[in-house]
Amino acid sequence: MFSPFHKRDTYTPINFSNSQVFPLLFLLAVWPPLCYTSTMKIILSTLNSRYTHSAIGLRYLYANMQELQNDTHILEFTINEAIQGIAEKILDQEPDILGLGVYIWNVDKIAELIHILKKVAPKLIIVLGGPEVSYLPFRVNLDAADYIIQGEGDRAFYELCKKIENDIPAERITPISLPDLKNIKLPYEYYSDHDIQNRYIYVEISRGCPFECEFCLSSMDEKVRAFDLEVVLEEFEKLWERGARNFKFVDRTFNLNMKAANMVLDFFLSKEPPYFAHFEVIPDHFPKSLREKIKSFPHGALQLEIGIQTLNPEIANNIARQLKLDKIEENIAFLENETTAHIHLDLIVGLPGESLESFGKNLDELMRLSSCEIQIGILKKLSGTHIKRHDETFSMVYSDIPPYDILQNTHLSFKDIQIMKRFARFWDIYYNSGNFKRSLKLLWEGESVYENFYAFSLWIYEQTDATHKISLQRQAELLFNYLATRKLRNKADVAKAMIPDILKLKGRALPAYLKPFANDVEVASKLGTSGFNKRQN
Ligand code: SF4
Repeated sequence: MFSPFHKRDTYTPINFSNSQVFPLLFLLAVWPPLCYTSTMKIILSTLNSRYTHSAIGLRYLYANMQELQNDTHILEFTINEAIQGIAEKILDQEPDILGLGVYIWNVDKIAELIHILKKVAPKLIIVLGGPEVSYLPFRVNLDAADYIIQGEGDRAFYELCKKIENDIPAERITPISLPDLKNIKLPYEYYSDHDIQNRYIYVEISRGCPFECEFCLSSMDEKVRAFDLEVVLEEFEKLWERGARNFKFVDRTFNLNMKAANMVLDFFLSKEPPYFAHFEVIPDHFPKSLREKIKSFPHGALQLEIGIQTLNPEIANNIARQLKLDKIEENIAFLENETTAHIHLDLIVGLPGESLESFGKNLDELMRLSSCEIQIGILKKLSGTHIKRHDETFSMVYSDIPPYDILQNTHLSFKDIQIMKRFARFWDIYYNSGNFKRSLKLLWEGESVYENFYAFSLWIYEQTDATHKISLQRQAELLFNYLATRKLRNKADVAKAMIPDILKLKGRALPAYLKPFANDVEVASKLGTSGFNKRQN
């Protein structure tokens, strides 16, 4: 059940004595801003991809609503909720203005929501903002929205609301020049106690990225801008004192400004574990001071997401991405061997000019360097990005439906891309899950990881005709059968690797096909968690 967002979950009533009331009445009479009441009610809303996510963007808007803040409320939903139910809950609040955050994961649902709202409440003024509406073309029909704010709308939303309140005409689409971060009120006090207890707390110390990777929206940023770190750290301290322990930094390149990064890491290192801090970092910049701090983090406290995307210099050059191979290799080795940080590497399928063979080499190389989670993504064409300049040269064909995936290009047929989407899904459930840490290695022992997993993923799909809803027992059985019948591995050897994988989580029963081998296996049954941390974003 949703209720209007309040500044804090805990509410302390204020009692005035008589001697306080008269000065207060006087103050209200002579100081209009204190008794300001808007005639409008404003709702800020979005559809998050999961309940554990909290929308920092809405809280920035709320923080900057000035005298309209008392009449503004936040309502958050997830993309899994029924759209008509969401519309009902919004309309129950009887808003005059609805501000909606639009992202790649919710744009189709937002379009449906607007459609319903405008049918049943045509007078409701709908304002859209967020990355999905910040660049043209809009590929989802959002024509029913009244206003669209393009860019960082922290203050622009308030300014538009004032125009609406005062009947001042405004353009339907307003491109915003980058606001000075000094003039933006920070959002952190508007995470409720419930958010702090139950959800990731999203934070940032900077905005923008200096690099120009052509597939990425952040490449459109003109420059990197930093918040006043002393002030931000004070806010983090308040969050910590309120019990926040799960921090996700949305900075695109956290390890760019060493002084700032070190101060933030020092903030966490001064705290008592357990806590969790997630950062996106570039792979080629881990100077000594940063290394020393990363080494000091306790197990499970630090998660680093590192975009690799490709290790092929020609492809990196095609997309204007810096690639310092020696530094990448050195830094991954450092993180792998000298830290307990959870590392998450990203690769992309479908980059202009990249064949499956080249992608396979990337994966094999990363597997040689690291045993960490490797997320395989499919190239997307985001409005505004420069990746479109390759459309003709590499016959790039993309879907116009979110998430705007590549469908084919000169190097990859539609069939190839379909196969690689399934490869990525099976890679997640078999490798990234950590559920088959010992047994999966038998698939490629001494050979190409890519080639062997490619053949395995083709075979799984032949057997199941599915990529989802394959139970853990079925996954194990498929792997056992493939290793025994296709790779012609000795069944006892496969069982020896698989039984500890299956029994490492308490309560899991041994399936019948493994029981004959159980006596030969020394079961490491209480090894703790299943391997890698799952991707949290
Ligand atoms: S991919 Fe990373 S480094 Fe490249 S522009 Fe985007 S945020 Fe910056």
